Amino acid sequence: MATKKVTKIPTKKKPVKKVQSKKPVAKKKTAPKKIIKKSNVATIANNKSKIAPYKSKKNEKYMSAAMRKHFIAVLLLWKEHLKEEMQKTFDHLRTKGETYADPIDRASQEEEFAFELRTRDRERKLINKIGISIEQIKNDEYGWCESCGDEIGVKRLEARPTATHCIDCKTLDEIKEKQLSG
Ligand SMILES: [Zn+2]
Repeated sequence: MATKKVTKIPTKKKPVKKVQSKKPVAKKKTAPKKIIKKSNVATIANNKSKIAPYKSKKNEKYMSAAMRKHFIAVLLLWKEHLKEEMQKTFDHLRTKGETYADPIDRASQEEEFAFELRTRDRERKLINKIGISIEQIKNDEYGWCESCGDEIGVKRLEARPTATHCIDCKTLDEIKEKQLSG
């Protein structure tokens, strides 16, 4: 009995289908937008105060009297700046209050107004926060994390003078928030 030698036929590898990444993306035609004057677009006043960052002295206690004084100055200046910005937005809304006959003009104007109102709202909230921070300095409660009680730190406060939490607690909060919303 002869055994047939079975020659293995090399199995051809199936050609892997390439995932087509080229999806015909429907390009949205952008209608020629009316150009909104950029000069008056409200922006949140940033915290670039003219006050130089605080230089701690050697062995200086955290939140020393001089440090507290520095942050009060920073906060007050920021508040003034925000108030000016709010006034500008207010003036702008008032002077541009006239209605346009063209519905496209009206729509873009309404959009602009809604944007400016939201900006004003954020500014108002920020001014409130600044006021709270100033109160905290006066009560010697400023600069400490509300969650863990640790130092928030001069560097962080310099960047965010209204910070109420240390970076660790803040990061943790943001992660939790993301988990809840996602
Ligand atoms: Zn903390």
